Amino acid sequence: MTSTRAYASQSATTPLGPHTIERREPGPHDVKIDILYCGVCHSDLHMARGEWHGAKFPCVPGHEIVGTVVAVGSHVREFQPGDRVGVGCMVDSCGECESCKAGNEQYCYAGNTGTYNSHDKHLGGHTFGGYSASITVDEGFVLNIPDNLPLDAAAPLLCAGITLYSPLKHWHAGPGKKVGIIGLGGLGHMGVKIARALGAHVVMLTTSPEKAADAQKLGAHEVILSTDAAQMKAAEKTFDLLMNTVSASHDLNAYTRLLNFDGAHVLLGIPPTPYPPLDVGRMIGNRLTVAASTIGGIRETQEMLDFCAAHHIVSDIETIRMDQVNDAYERMLKGDVKYRFVIDMATLKGA
Ligand SMILES: [Zn+2]
Ligand SMILES: [Zn+2]
Repeated sequence: MTSTRAYASQSATTPLGPHTIERREPGPHDVKIDILYCGVCHSDLHMARGEWHGAKFPCVPGHEIVGTVVAVGSHVREFQPGDRVGVGCMVDSCGECESCKAGNEQYCYAGNTGTYNSHDKHLGGHTFGGYSASITVDEGFVLNIPDNLPLDAAAPLLCAGITLYSPLKHWHAGPGKKVGIIGLGGLGHMGVKIARALGAHVVMLTTSPEKAADAQKLGAHEVILSTDAAQMKAAEKTFDLLMNTVSASHDLNAYTRLLNFDGAHVLLGIPPTPYPPLDVGRMIGNRLTVAASTIGGIRETQEMLDFCAAHHIVSDIETIRMDQVNDAYERMLKGDVKYRFVIDMATLKGA
């Protein structure tokens, strides 16, 4: 085991601060990674503050990890020291169930092992995420970061990017399809970029008029102000697909009404309180789907990274120091970030 510098919250009510964790020595199939950058996801904030059921402390968040391989186990063939790699939301799964065999480790029947806050089968206790100097991960959960992607701005692809890419592919976003992205934040801005690159007609649906120009800069063909009843009425029955990135509870029917026959409205956030009831009559009458999705499998995550490299897609980021993360959480709650904070892990030393 190696004592490793990290940043953790010690309870639901304490801010994050310096902390030391243990990392395992690489086993035959492990890859040891020096972490260079780690994106800041809303999940980090919820878990660090004990807002989600089952939060364990100390909590070291972070599941948008990029860095450099420094050591590999004796059986590892795909990676070698010096490689630019990433780790997303999972570090393990059963490997044997139908989901795992199909490459959908995120839907493992036994539950995947989260990069943080899951049981650590190697060391006992729970897993610690990327707000740390290094991490040791099974090679099956390590991604290659293509050479032309800057590491810092690529970090958010590991959660925000794949969270949009997987459902956009699954529900066939592409040429001839009109795709709405609901909410312009960390997830939404990736949705606009990826849907555009897939060839779809992309519409940003936002409650904030001031976000219209930004959405167009990111690649949206159109912007609909969802608080404007006339604009929403005019858009009824025109969409093939909606990606809903809003994690607060709201009336889903207002958006489902925008779907044309056979359309799908995909929920990507988990609201802390239930949604109001669905208008099933409307859904039946148009064979509509209201669905939900989370991240993507490992194969698909690599496909997403390669797709982003080919289309020069990265996240729009603001780089912060490790000791700024508590302030960053407050700013995220106010929506004051364009569009993802990324921690420069070199600053962990002085933090
Ligand atoms: Zn995340
Ligand atoms: Zn499984």
